[in-house]
Amino acid sequence: MASGPTPMMAQYLALKSQADDCLLFYRMGDFFELFFDDARRAAAVLDIALTSRGEHDGAPVPMCGVPVHSAESYLARLIRAGCRVAIAEQVETPAEAKERTKREGGGSKVLVRRDIVRFVTAGTLTEDNLLESRRANTLVALAPLHDRVGIAAVDISTGAMILESHEAGNLAAALSRIGASEVVVPEAWEHAPEDAITRPAADFASDRGEARLKSLHQVSTLDGFGAFDRAALAAAGGLIAYLDHVGRGQLPLLLPPRARAAHGHLAMDEATRASLEILQSASGTRSGSLIDCIDRCLTGAGARLLAEDLSAPLAEAEAIRERLAAVDRLYGDALLREDLRGLMRGLPDIARALGRVVAGRGSPRDLGQIRDGLGLAYELHQMIGEMADRPALFERLRPALTGHGALVQALIRALVETPPTERAQGGYIAKGYDAALDELRDIAKNGRQAIAALEQDYRDATGIAALKIKHNGVLGYFIEVPARHADALMAADSGFTHRQTMQSAVRFNALALHEQASRIAEAGGRALAAEDAHFEELVAMTAAHAEGIAATAHALARIDVCAGQAERAAEGGWVRPDIADAPCLDIRGGRHPVVEAALAKGRDRFVANDCALSDTDRLWLIGGPNMGGKSTFLRQNALIVLLAQAGGFVPADSATIGLVDRLFSRVGASDNLAKGRSTFMVEMVETAAILSQATDRSFVILDEVGRGTSTYDGLALAWAVAESVHGTLQCRCLFATHYHELSRLAETCEALSLHHVRAREWKGDLVLLHELADGPADRSYGLAVARLAGVPAPVIARAKKVLDRLEKGRAETGGLAAGLGELPLFAAVAEAEEEQCDTLRDTLAALDVDALSPRDALDMLYRLKRDAAD
Ligand code: ADP
Repeated sequence: MASGPTPMMAQYLALKSQADDCLLFYRMGDFFELFFDDARRAAAVLDIALTSRGEHDGAPVPMCGVPVHSAESYLARLIRAGCRVAIAEQVETPAEAKERTKREGGGSKVLVRRDIVRFVTAGTLTEDNLLESRRANTLVALAPLHDRVGIAAVDISTGAMILESHEAGNLAAALSRIGASEVVVPEAWEHAPEDAITRPAADFASDRGEARLKSLHQVSTLDGFGAFDRAALAAAGGLIAYLDHVGRGQLPLLLPPRARAAHGHLAMDEATRASLEILQSASGTRSGSLIDCIDRCLTGAGARLLAEDLSAPLAEAEAIRERLAAVDRLYGDALLREDLRGLMRGLPDIARALGRVVAGRGSPRDLGQIRDGLGLAYELHQMIGEMADRPALFERLRPALTGHGALVQALIRALVETPPTERAQGGYIAKGYDAALDELRDIAKNGRQAIAALEQDYRDATGIAALKIKHNGVLGYFIEVPARHADALMAADSGFTHRQTMQSAVRFNALALHEQASRIAEAGGRALAAEDAHFEELVAMTAAHAEGIAATAHALARIDVCAGQAERAAEGGWVRPDIADAPCLDIRGGRHPVVEAALAKGRDRFVANDCALSDTDRLWLIGGPNMGGKSTFLRQNALIVLLAQAGGFVPADSATIGLVDRLFSRVGASDNLAKGRSTFMVEMVETAAILSQATDRSFVILDEVGRGTSTYDGLALAWAVAESVHGTLQCRCLFATHYHELSRLAETCEALSLHHVRAREWKGDLVLLHELADGPADRSYGLAVARLAGVPAPVIARAKKVLDRLEKGRAETGGLAAGLGELPLFAAVAEAEEEQCDTLRDTLAALDVDALSPRDALDMLYRLKRDAAD
């Protein structure tokens, strides 16, 4: 006969059914237990033992568990592995459960009521241990409406909320800028991004979203926050409804929403971000990325703001110049910079502390951090006040650094200097804040002193010198004597009552001790309750200032970013870029910050190069051998534009940058097979995007586009793309290619010029100079590069024979580009003569005959003869 599930299992299954596809952490005493498939998955991710418990449907129930006190670290690992977790807590004490069961006329079996109190998901974390201090953690809700998609993005850890609205086609680019850790969408939306979490479509109603925002911020209109369209409001509705769901009704800190307009920022799509390795290197790590190379911020909040700056650089000259002027001021004054950074070093992460406090997960330490952070902000306010030639940005931020005097004073009076992270033990309210609390503490303290005195009394009375009064969590205070002395105290009239016999000691109680202990316990309990009440008041007081504190945190972060940029610039000898209106790009002595730093580690020097694009010379075609430095040159110029428009100095001797509206970076046939499209298809989809989106204010770098297909197709496409960039888009563009034939475009495209990275063959070896020079590349160095890379000599020799044959064929037929001259647009030109590579001659020319011994000379002759035979 099949019996039904046990009451506990029934309760578990009911909760599990509310947990969507989250793992259910089911609280049992000091553990969170997981069952069934949840247990299997968690055991595998966490590498903990999978056991079993009881039976369900005739089979043992798989189970694993994690201790409550260390649950956070396990949660962190599960979240990182892509899991979401529902936490089911006991919501009544065993005593309450017993009462209730009795009231309800239940039997002797008592089951404590449990409920899901919170969902822990990647996008809704506030705990310090679960977050990375230098990375924002963004939750995004999307709402499609007609041909637009609304985006509501919030960093729950700080409450910062941004609403946007985009044409459906631009969604991918916006999402790649935001880099969300969790995306929520209405169910049954066919264009939803992969891995998105679906919620009921009714949650994403724009009128509900608008009403929620208004009531949340107690305003009758949202106009004061910005202009939001229906799609953006619908997304906000979906976001808040999801937060209600995961917080089980308790909303986290949500600051008033800001609108982000598409213009005003330098637009970049996903492929561009990936290829420029802005926040992540190609291997997915921070190390090797642009931000890793330039981040000198001293606070987590600063680093997060810098990431935001680099993800969405500005496209408005005045705003950029405002940042640059502030960086410049700190760049030029090393002492001021050091003072300011000295102050930043001690700054706690008040934005996140505030997020926890408002979310109801704050600790005394969080309040202490807000107190200290606001105090330092005030010091900074004074420091900036005394600064000569204050830049406009600092002037604008300065008021936000102050204005919390009353709150800070209250927190200073209320809290001890370094408050604990746990509330349970109390001890965080300062002495002198509350006379009644101090009195309770005195009672407890006197009680403890009285107990210490009792110990001596009892020793005197019993004559047992080894008698001790001890305390533990189970018995409270007790008297302990070695076993051999116990008999005297066991006597009925001894005044001691027996409590516990251990192997070598016996434990007793006594009336006076009991009274003192009760007094301590009672006073202690009341003291804890008083501290709790104060804590709640302080939390409410802090929460009432949430917006002001968030503004202070933001101002601090901005100043940290400016000072960090100035520091980095001073370290690397970088310069302040000039932001110009004309569509130029004039960079002298430009460097690639990441490659330069990598080379510096191996004590190699980076070769600086110039770039000078203008109205009349917009498109540079760059040839030269593989590994010659073409990609590096392309990227360094894109990065310099990006850094400049983010408001920072740039790695160059000088830079004048005509404002760029969109930045595109494309690398031919990058290995994107993971997405299931052929590399060439990806290359073409990405190229198509440029051709349809770039404007005459855009900057485009094209690295070997056309490489992913056959030579003829590739050359034809590269040719047509270059023509279109030149004639139709008329944007600034650097185009690296190994097709020599493309150089013929220079004959017809007047704003196109030819350049190459220099290389030299020396004693048969290729020397890459990484130096950019004018004019077309003279020839291909493929075989020399292959030799450099260690391809065995016989293979190189064979390749050379094949090459000779091919080149002979080319000379006879007019070459790969034969016939292009007959295209109506092009005049025929004679093929440039290929310069033959003559290693024998080079080797001989380089020979210092006087320095050779007869033996060396003989060896050399043999070598030359062998080379000649190849
Ligand atoms: P290409 O695109 O021409 O194949 P890359 O730009 O990938 O060449 O450069 C190859 C390598 O050469 C880089 O990894 C770097 O180590 C080195 N390199 C490139 N540019 C420079 C430079 N300007 N100065 C010094 N080394 C450079």
